[in-house]
Amino acid sequence: QCMAHRDSFKASEIEYHYTSNPKPKPANSDFCKFGTNFTDHMLMVDWDDVKGWEIPVIKPVEDVGLHPAASVLQFSTELYEGLKAYRTARNTINIFRPMENMKRMEYTAERACLPAFDKQEVINCICELIRVDKEWVPYSQKASLYIRPFMIGTEISIALKRPNTATFLCIMCPVGPYFATGTFSPISLLADPSYVRAGKGGVGAYKLGSNYGPTIMVQAEAASRGCQQVLWLYGKEEKITEVGTMNFFMFWINENGDKELATMPLDEGIVLSGVTRRSLIDLARQWGEFKVTERKITMNDVVMGLNENRVLEMFGTGTACVVCPIDRILYKDTNLHIPTMENGPYVAGRFYKELADIQYGRVSHEWAYTA
Ligand code: PMP
Repeated sequence: QCMAHRDSFKASEIEYHYTSNPKPKPANSDFCKFGTNFTDHMLMVDWDDVKGWEIPVIKPVEDVGLHPAASVLQFSTELYEGLKAYRTARNTINIFRPMENMKRMEYTAERACLPAFDKQEVINCICELIRVDKEWVPYSQKASLYIRPFMIGTEISIALKRPNTATFLCIMCPVGPYFATGTFSPISLLADPSYVRAGKGGVGAYKLGSNYGPTIMVQAEAASRGCQQVLWLYGKEEKITEVGTMNFFMFWINENGDKELATMPLDEGIVLSGVTRRSLIDLARQWGEFKVTERKITMNDVVMGLNENRVLEMFGTGTACVVCPIDRILYKDTNLHIPTMENGPYVAGRFYKELADIQYGRVSHEWAYTA
């Protein structure tokens, strides 16, 4: 009973098992299919509630053995994160605000009944994994390496309970430019109030895998109705919460005649706190050129704003694309044209450039973390 419980794992203890079969790095065109082309190695760490964390291992990407009764297979006890590594012109590698992802991972783990960890040590371990697979970080200021840390409950039991064993993993894949043509291509959205992504008291603010699986069917419905993504609405007022797996922003002249950048507040717990969202709010407040507000935006605000020519730009934000302009919303069988592209997009374009400059190290900034 006196056995030490290990509250975290550490990068200094990593055990390395290198592949004897390195895979060929993809040619540029292969980056296009997101999420299927993995680097040579992964990070894996086991946990149990008596001993705590085991020694972290970096080893070739391989199947994970699971008993059919593993908690994750029965009850989706899984959480994940998504961040990127960027190669700079000086041939160093940056990750963007990784501590923000670790904080989100920590509060999601608590909600998921999965184990806690030392956030800085997880960053250190991810940096070691990047170092081992560093040749997989694209030599390009358009492409990047997507990093997917995640955790699963592995206890063998079909009883619904807090898993007493778990595994932390991290896999990575090179990704090409989100906008393949090099210029913004705007997206269209299906706004159907009969679907809800998350509700008050629910888990929408956490990055749990179980939030995402059920959205695939709604995404397919959007596609069948000629739209590229889902605009998630909430409640009687049809508040706009998110766009697909991105946060939502509108740049407009508000009802009082002020130029305003608006995004949903986080206080109801129905929106994921995006690292990109936070960064845009911070940048825009530094610019100090217009109001920056976390406020509700309803479909009615959008319809009224469009009728009165007050809507300037609308876009989603996330790690994958940084900013993604919106040019059309299909709402109650009507296509609403959003004039984002006609307006530059000036604000979206400026966010994109400023964040890419930080990520690729073209300017130095505290948000860039050297891997
Ligand atoms: N909303 C949802 C639902 C998401 O899954 C993501 C992606 N993590 C985002 C917003 C954007 O978050 P971030 O800017 O941290 O990528």
